[in-house]
Amino acid sequence: MITVKIILFVLLAVFSLYSFGMGIKERYEVLAMAKPEDRFDQPGKRLWGALSIVLGQRRLLREPGAGLMHLLIFWGLAVFALGIVGFILEGLFPGLVLPILGSNPYFYLLIDVFGLMAIVGMLVSAYRRYIAKVPRLGVGDWSEERTIVALIAGIVIMVISYYIGSAAHAVSAGVDRYVLAPITGILAGGMSLSASQVLYEVFWWLNVLMALGLLVFFRYSHLVHPLAAPINIYLRNLQPRGGSIKNLDLENEEEENFGVSKITDYTWKQLLDCFACAECGRCQDNCPAYISGKPLSPKKLIAVLKENLPNKTKSLGNLKEAYAATAIDSEKADLPELAGEIINEDVIWSCTTCYACQEHCPQLNEHINKIIDLRRNLVLDRSEFPSEAQLAFTNLERNFNPWGVGWSNRGDWADELDVPTMEDNKDAEYLLFVGCAGSFDDRTKNVTIALVKILQAAGISFAILGSEEKCCGDSARRLGNEYLYQSLVEENIEVFNEYGVKKVITACPHCFNTLKNEYPNFGGNYEVIHHTQLINRLIEDKKLNLQGVGDSLKLTYHDSCYLGRYNDEYEAPRRIIGHLPGASLVEMGRNKNRAFCCGAGGGRMWLEENIGNRINVMRTEQALQTKPEVIAVNCPFCLTMIEDGLKEHDQSEYVQAKDIAELVARYLQ
Ligand code: SF4
Ligand code: SF4
Repeated sequence: MITVKIILFVLLAVFSLYSFGMGIKERYEVLAMAKPEDRFDQPGKRLWGALSIVLGQRRLLREPGAGLMHLLIFWGLAVFALGIVGFILEGLFPGLVLPILGSNPYFYLLIDVFGLMAIVGMLVSAYRRYIAKVPRLGVGDWSEERTIVALIAGIVIMVISYYIGSAAHAVSAGVDRYVLAPITGILAGGMSLSASQVLYEVFWWLNVLMALGLLVFFRYSHLVHPLAAPINIYLRNLQPRGGSIKNLDLENEEEENFGVSKITDYTWKQLLDCFACAECGRCQDNCPAYISGKPLSPKKLIAVLKENLPNKTKSLGNLKEAYAATAIDSEKADLPELAGEIINEDVIWSCTTCYACQEHCPQLNEHINKIIDLRRNLVLDRSEFPSEAQLAFTNLERNFNPWGVGWSNRGDWADELDVPTMEDNKDAEYLLFVGCAGSFDDRTKNVTIALVKILQAAGISFAILGSEEKCCGDSARRLGNEYLYQSLVEENIEVFNEYGVKKVITACPHCFNTLKNEYPNFGGNYEVIHHTQLINRLIEDKKLNLQGVGDSLKLTYHDSCYLGRYNDEYEAPRRIIGHLPGASLVEMGRNKNRAFCCGAGGGRMWLEENIGNRINVMRTEQALQTKPEVIAVNCPFCLTMIEDGLKEHDQSEYVQAKDIAELVARYLQ
């Protein structure tokens, strides 16, 4: 029989579902204004990965405290939702129970327990926000916080209303299926029959209002990550991390501008990241730029982009303000330029592309492409970039290296060594891609020479390109000069292919990453190996004979971003250190995927660092805390930065920075 209760419920449900649907439609319309991007390939891989990340809460649990809190909320609400469905249906259609589950006392036990988990999780979340005031959460004023308070309160009230309503139902209807449900049972124990009938109706409606209210809430709230995050994770980047910077089509004459000028120049996936952001601050907590006092916070970057999304939401009282700080006309022409007008250029140039933000973002947001797209627009369209970048660009254009040393001198370091060029030895198994630092920087030339000694000792067939080699392009691309980057890549690939190069060794993780992960996008497919990987293999295959050199040696090891986070190579260098007779490794607090950047990535090697603390000095301090004799590195940029850091700390006399190749060469017999 259709009752007033059912009619009222249906009206509320229709309104709530309509609001929810409109919320999705409005956000879809925002994404539809952005540029296209294909993120629908490999559905099986996407689904499987998304399930394991979302259901297992893998990334969140890297931080046990906050991770456990989120686990309680996620699983608590996911299971509790089943109980609510049954509770509401039973209130509408007395006598109806959920099939299979509805008559099982263990089901109600589970619902009680998972509901409690959700409440505990929400209360811990409120505690972290409003009592412990965890800095990275960035608690704002009431106008910003009211939606979060409303969400926490709404969920807690929803669960409590279920408990009281179920207890009242157990008493008023005399059902015994709640017998194992601890909270419902306790509440039912103290309830009279007459009170239970009233309480059941009151709390059933309260539960309905809270549950349906959540659907309405998502339309007007800026907190849509519970819905957007699983979708965002499904649509995650499946490219190798190190190859995920998008290629710019420089020939496309239909493009109005290069890179990103206005928010709608981003792709829809880049904007979806904004909806997925949970404002948890993990990215900010791991960002060397932010930690060292630069104006860049990856969390704020996403928040600012979100605030400046074209506003398609409908107003509902003041709640509209919580979603869009500034009302923007949806016409693209009226949108502001992001760089300069919305985002300070110092923010854009502070990024070292270290990948720490993306490594730790539980929603798999992609910050780096957003920053590089802004740089591309500044460089290619507006010619606005730091003057030091201009010097690096000019040097790269004229001499194919950022130092600006004459290109014809690129192979001079090998003059006294028995190192063939590819021209001399076309049958060489490996091309040793020396890189700009290894060719021109006096300190790094020692690393190249040490590596040559190792390769020769192991009988490796290799050759170099000499003056035919050009910069791999890493810095040019990350500084936004895609045009210069692509010309360097194409010229290198042409030479590689001319010599039929198949295998490449490099001692620079920036060259390694670019050749391995980016060159394939331009048709250059090679087997690329970092020197630490090769050296480790040679040691383990007993092709190198390492002998003790007397004293013991206490080392700490600095993971470079481009070998570690980008290419997941943490073990080879550590295994090499383990093979050095008398050497002992002491890890820094921040190591492996939590390692702190040296400050030189993203083209920052060529820019002044005038704001905040120097990142290399901070990293060196972290290394010095282990009281090492040697700070081992795997990257020429890191070597330079750590050596500079040692000078800043007046420790150069006591502690040395050494590349792994230099260490191994010292033990060679
Ligand atoms: S890549 Fe590194 S420096 Fe850039 S925003 Fe992310 S964490 Fe910060
Ligand atoms: S971008 Fe990711 S890590 Fe950063 S605040 Fe948002 S959800 Fe958290």
